[in-house]
Amino acid sequence: MELLGVIGNPISHSLSPVMHNSAFQAIKKTAVYVPMLVQEDNLSQAIQGAKALGFTGINVTVPFKEKVIPFLTQMTDDARIVGSVNTILFQGQEIIGHTTDGAGFQQAMEMEVGINPVGKSFLVLGAGGAARAIAHQLSKHDCQVYLTNRTLDRAQRLASDLEATAIKKPIVIANQQQELAKAVQECQVIINTTSVGMEATKDQSPFPLDLLTQEHQVIDIIYNPAETLLLKTARELGCTVQNGVGMLVWQAVKAWEFWWGITPPVDVMYQALKNSLASQE
Ligand code: NAP
Repeated sequence: MELLGVIGNPISHSLSPVMHNSAFQAIKKTAVYVPMLVQEDNLSQAIQGAKALGFTGINVTVPFKEKVIPFLTQMTDDARIVGSVNTILFQGQEIIGHTTDGAGFQQAMEMEVGINPVGKSFLVLGAGGAARAIAHQLSKHDCQVYLTNRTLDRAQRLASDLEATAIKKPIVIANQQQELAKAVQECQVIINTTSVGMEATKDQSPFPLDLLTQEHQVIDIIYNPAETLLLKTARELGCTVQNGVGMLVWQAVKAWEFWWGITPPVDVMYQALKNSLASQE
């Protein structure tokens, strides 16, 4: 029996176990995926413990995506550039960190709403962990990324971290109506990576909604609620919209590719996730 799991704190809300275990069952893979609550002081022991117990790999979630880095022996280029790890592979004595958030985001965007990044302009709202992964992924392509964030120097830091690898240097936009209005006119795709719109802020938008036009394609990576105020407004205006379910599924798919080089049954993962989210409503 192969062992996998996810470390985080809190962890009981994580939807990863149901997604992965449903996929294992569907293809009769003898593996189990468990949620593991870890205290920050025990992070090193938790990773060494998983290695000693023969885990194939683990996922890493909030608040440890950056904090695990000192305990790894190798990192992929994506993880190093983004500065975040959501997937670990144990291989012999090596503990290899990778991030699948950016690739998962792009694959979901292509599969669900047919957006190929090449030649497009994107406005990314936010500069936290998810924004870093998404902006890095997009900037591997010949497209223009605009960044804005409540704390502007975080967006500036992200832009400068991507400068060496980006095909086109990301442009930072002040979080003010006039600046945003100009950027929004330039962009076809608007991506919310901030936490604004989740339960505690469900009546708020991360962005002045009157700037939207029906030509925009709007992606909100929040998956609970399934439709944030931003997405609802965009949908009613006639925009193409996408929520965060696809990113969550495809980052898990990319983790299978990293652990085993195989693609899981994606439809099974989508269904398991949708059932779980529906039961929480
Ligand atoms: P994070 O690193 O903590 O970043 C949070 C971001 O939200 C920052 O840019 C922060 O701005 C901004 N923000 C928070 N409260 C705000 C407010 N009241 N007004 C304006 N901006 C605010 O978090 P993260 O890991 O990037 O996650 C962000 C969101 O993405 C969460 O909702 C998470 O659930 C979602 N997510 C989804 C997936 C998926 O697979 N669908 C994966 C990862 C994350 P400051 O820099 O100014 O604080």
